[in-house]
Amino acid sequence: MSETITVQGAVLSAMPVGEYDRRIVILTRERGKISAFAKGARRQNSPLLAVSNPFVFGSFTLYEGRTSYSLREASVTRYFADLASLYPGVYYGYYFLELADYFGKEGLDEKEMLNLLYVTLLALMNPSLPDRLIRCAFELRIMKEQGLMPWIFSCPVCGKKTDHSKWYFTQDDHGLICEDCLGRRLGFEGNASETISSPGKREGFYGGRQVKALRISYAAIRMMQYIVSCTLKKLYTFTAEERLLRELEAVILPYTAANIDRRLKSLPILETMIDSG
Ligand SMILES: [Zn+2]
Repeated sequence: MSETITVQGAVLSAMPVGEYDRRIVILTRERGKISAFAKGARRQNSPLLAVSNPFVFGSFTLYEGRTSYSLREASVTRYFADLASLYPGVYYGYYFLELADYFGKEGLDEKEMLNLLYVTLLALMNPSLPDRLIRCAFELRIMKEQGLMPWIFSCPVCGKKTDHSKWYFTQDDHGLICEDCLGRRLGFEGNASETISSPGKREGFYGGRQVKALRISYAAIRMMQYIVSCTLKKLYTFTAEERLLRELEAVILPYTAANIDRRLKSLPILETMIDSG
């Protein structure tokens, strides 16, 4: 006996199985991340052919078996098919889907992640927004949703709120530290090992480890604060000049990587595309 359920969601990935079938991963509002078998989905005349693809958003009717789901039918509300013609936009898209897959959990309410993914794919279709900025915003926002937000509103040591004075970001301490406190830490425990290796970077030894601190501008801090605080509707309503973008990338990309315990498959492909572009 199997029951039928209907869920709202997005297809994150599709894998060929056997000769004609597919296994798809769907991020759903109701059941979190689930995987479903789509029988015959690769047959030319199958109604499942078009709906069992990455970037499809819609409602999915599934048979719920004892140990797995199988897809019976789906109705598409939005298929980001035109992403395929965007280069390297489509590779950003696959990377975003894989990040959502990585953090998605079965049985949880993934409504927020689903909405974030939706507005992010829409943003990729907007030619006036740099893909690199979209990536920074998406990564930081996903970290926030996952409860992994970096410390970006004050100094964790003295409690001072972010202002126009000098601030540093350290991956080792997961966020900001003000110049005074960084200097004090380096001074107390520094073993005179602080070096100014390149402008904007300070390295030293404290808390039993080597710490690298990166100077970060107030503008970049404000932008990060905006990204984690704004409504989803407003998430992609700003842009950033190249200098600011580089600052965000220097902080956010390593931060995300440090919170992921395996190399994502889509990332080397994306990086190759960016390098060759
Ligand atoms: Zn401080």
